[in-house]
Amino acid sequence: MTSPAEIDHLNRRAHLLYREKSAEAQALAEEACMHAIRLGYQQGYLEGLVNHGRALTLQGGYQEAIALFSHTLKIAEESSLQLLTAECLQEIARAHFTISDFDTALQYWSRCLDISHSAQADEPWLRALIGLGQIYLAHGDATSALSHHRWAMSSWKEGNDPTLYAAACINTGVDLYEMGRHGEALEALNQARGASHEQQAEIQTVLGLIHLTRGDLAAAERALLSAQQINRTQGNALGLATNLLALARLAMLRGNLSAATDLLERALDQAKAMGTQHLLLQIELAMSEACEARQDWQRALSHFKRYHALQQETQRRLAPFKLQAMEMQLEVEKARMENAHLRRKHANERQERHRIERMASEDALTGLLNRRGLEQSADSLLMTEGIPVSALMIDVDHFKSINDSWGHEIGDKVLRQVAALLKSGCRQGDLVSRWGGEEFAVLLQNRNGPQGADVAERLRRLVEGWTWERIAPAITVTISIGVAQYQAEDDLASVFQQADEKLYEAKHAGRNRVIL
Ligand code: GH3
Ligand code: MG
Ligand code: MG
Repeated sequence: MTSPAEIDHLNRRAHLLYREKSAEAQALAEEACMHAIRLGYQQGYLEGLVNHGRALTLQGGYQEAIALFSHTLKIAEESSLQLLTAECLQEIARAHFTISDFDTALQYWSRCLDISHSAQADEPWLRALIGLGQIYLAHGDATSALSHHRWAMSSWKEGNDPTLYAAACINTGVDLYEMGRHGEALEALNQARGASHEQQAEIQTVLGLIHLTRGDLAAAERALLSAQQINRTQGNALGLATNLLALARLAMLRGNLSAATDLLERALDQAKAMGTQHLLLQIELAMSEACEARQDWQRALSHFKRYHALQQETQRRLAPFKLQAMEMQLEVEKARMENAHLRRKHANERQERHRIERMASEDALTGLLNRRGLEQSADSLLMTEGIPVSALMIDVDHFKSINDSWGHEIGDKVLRQVAALLKSGCRQGDLVSRWGGEEFAVLLQNRNGPQGADVAERLRRLVEGWTWERIAPAITVTISIGVAQYQAEDDLASVFQQADEKLYEAKHAGRNRVIL
């Protein structure tokens, strides 16, 4: 075999097969790589590597898959192959996510969002969005998970991979299940048309869990066995371990304790082999419950201890996650704006009109409201009698010298980051706007003056404490804030006039402070 066409053919077959028959796909991909090297056919080689990695992932060989994807990533970056770069970033993130290294997964998915935008790669973008939602869920924040997954559902376009739409629906279903909203979960699962075999197994697993919680054990068993059947034919190791855990729960509910512990033993072995901490944790807990029910106290205790140790370890991993949560929110927000921009390109006339209206109220650099947008939205906030509102006028300190030392582009990045920090430090109903230049104006709902000053202080610290070295070495950024409470006789201009006077005081008192 010597021609690129034949190598392409091998890769196509490997790609088609990897979900169904991962071992066979792996062999095909390896063959493609070998021939491609001999031929010096880079494209075929890289595709082969990716296919090989994907097949490994399905078999639970995450570390090896990560090594392959990282190698491919390096070449893709060096050769400026943006789509492939985005795909590798997403695959690496997915593998880290599965072995519960959430912090690393987060970093790769964030990078993936960035690259996907410039490469106009919808699919890696959607996958990253779904993945970020899963990170939220793994940390118990089902609400944020749900909003990411619903967003993925609504961002999917005709022509994108249909299994991605299904993935968004299934994940939405899982989030709703975790929130105890079973009816809505079923609705979301029903929408997962175009699901692959592998995804059918996921759907059956969630259905099984819903039936279990509802106490319909016969239906739960049917769903779980059918999921298991599919996962077995596909060699999906993670899917199988998940099924074993659910089946063990079922056996426990039926009072069949020895079957439950047997199933859990098998699940435990698989989860350990794969290194999936998150699953391992759940299995250890179930195991300790099952042993307790069998009155095997000693074993129950030892499993509980291991569960506890794993949980502590996960919590240790949680700390960096929390530090990064902010950044993640920003990346996602940024991607949201950029995705809106992408979609505009395909917009029809009506959307175009809508876009122009929006642009008139939105600041192009930061995506925040502009002054006009703030004026338009402020009425509804100010009209509700008896509910206090406070106004913040915010100005970046010595911003001119940031521009002078690092250039205008870094200056713009700083403004975007400040904007995102302000936005993420406020509540949803608050209005955050770019007043102009390096000045921001904020209206805080249901906050009197002193409460507004507390929020302002938090925002000030958020900006002061952010790791600005990510943008430029040795750069520091602070803001000064003036606060005023809105009074009945005020209008928007007068309340911000007062806040601006306080801001002036803050500047004169030495900057990086809040004055009410
Ligand atoms: P102070 O602490 O007193 O606020 O000092 P300052 O340097 O921040 O204030 P000054 O008003 O002198 O400078 C503001 C600078 O902001 C000047 C202007 O060039 C810059 N600027 C305004 N809009 C933008 C923008 O969109 N991007 C960038 N990079 N710079 C901007
Ligand atoms: Mg200024
Ligand atoms: Mg300034």
